[in-house]
Amino acid sequence: MNQNKWEVVLDHACQLGEGPVWDADQQRILWVDILPGEIHSFYPASSEHRIFKTGQMVGAIALRPSGNFIAALQHGFYEISLENETLTPLADPEVHLPENRFNDGKCDPAGRFWAGTMSISDEPGAGALYMLDNDRSVSIKVENVTCSNGLAWSLDHQILYYIDSPTRQVVAYDYDVVTGTIANKRVVIQFEEEDGFPDGMTIDEKGMLWIALWDGWKVIRCNPNTGERLQQIDLPVARITSCTFGGDALDDLFITSAKTGLCQQELDEQPLAGCLFIVKNTGIKGARTHGL
Ligand code: CA
Repeated sequence: MNQNKWEVVLDHACQLGEGPVWDADQQRILWVDILPGEIHSFYPASSEHRIFKTGQMVGAIALRPSGNFIAALQHGFYEISLENETLTPLADPEVHLPENRFNDGKCDPAGRFWAGTMSISDEPGAGALYMLDNDRSVSIKVENVTCSNGLAWSLDHQILYYIDSPTRQVVAYDYDVVTGTIANKRVVIQFEEEDGFPDGMTIDEKGMLWIALWDGWKVIRCNPNTGERLQQIDLPVARITSCTFGGDALDDLFITSAKTGLCQQELDEQPLAGCLFIVKNTGIKGARTHGL
């Protein structure tokens, strides 16, 4: 079942590596280190590694056709040019909640950017999931969220899959691609305590979900229609945070991880905690990432 062997992409360990994004145009992988507010980019062909410091915590980034990025930072949505090293604020729906920060985010099939928040001190239910529309208006989509995390849309654009990590669930909503409306929440995957907590996720060309498991030491491929587990990738670190497909053929899986919160003994046992991993030639391609 577990044929896939991981490799470390580069010799760099993040505090809280997250949100990998494959940029096909530039053949680079991007990811964030949330706590120090860094956006990392790595070019496999040249092994060039760049770090852009945003100056605040950064939860997620999404690529735009212009080559710029939409980012969910601690203090709201920004447009970022890595080339010009500029940040332009777009909107902050939680200006009244300074104890919150943005976490995971992604673009939907219509190019709107969705991202959720969480309490920096992990207060239950303090976060929410928001949608930034193309006219820069922001609407709240899910309230009473504790740790807003993975997002994915079904290949037919009919369903939104979503993770609020402490629930240990992946839930589904009916999704209207025209309006961005969601409805009819139901649980499609329930994890057990020994699995850890579901964190980030991505969807493949078959409509299956690849779910990173925080404190679970693994990524699991699941069928959201049946809940069935199809494949497991075991990793040498506990805090697996997210994954995305990339590479020439979009069949390499990039996997982020974290070392934050580990005690010294755990750090000694997990010298690769915080690294970016790759599983090459998975035999399955990712679905194309949506952009603005
Ligand atoms: Ca996350």
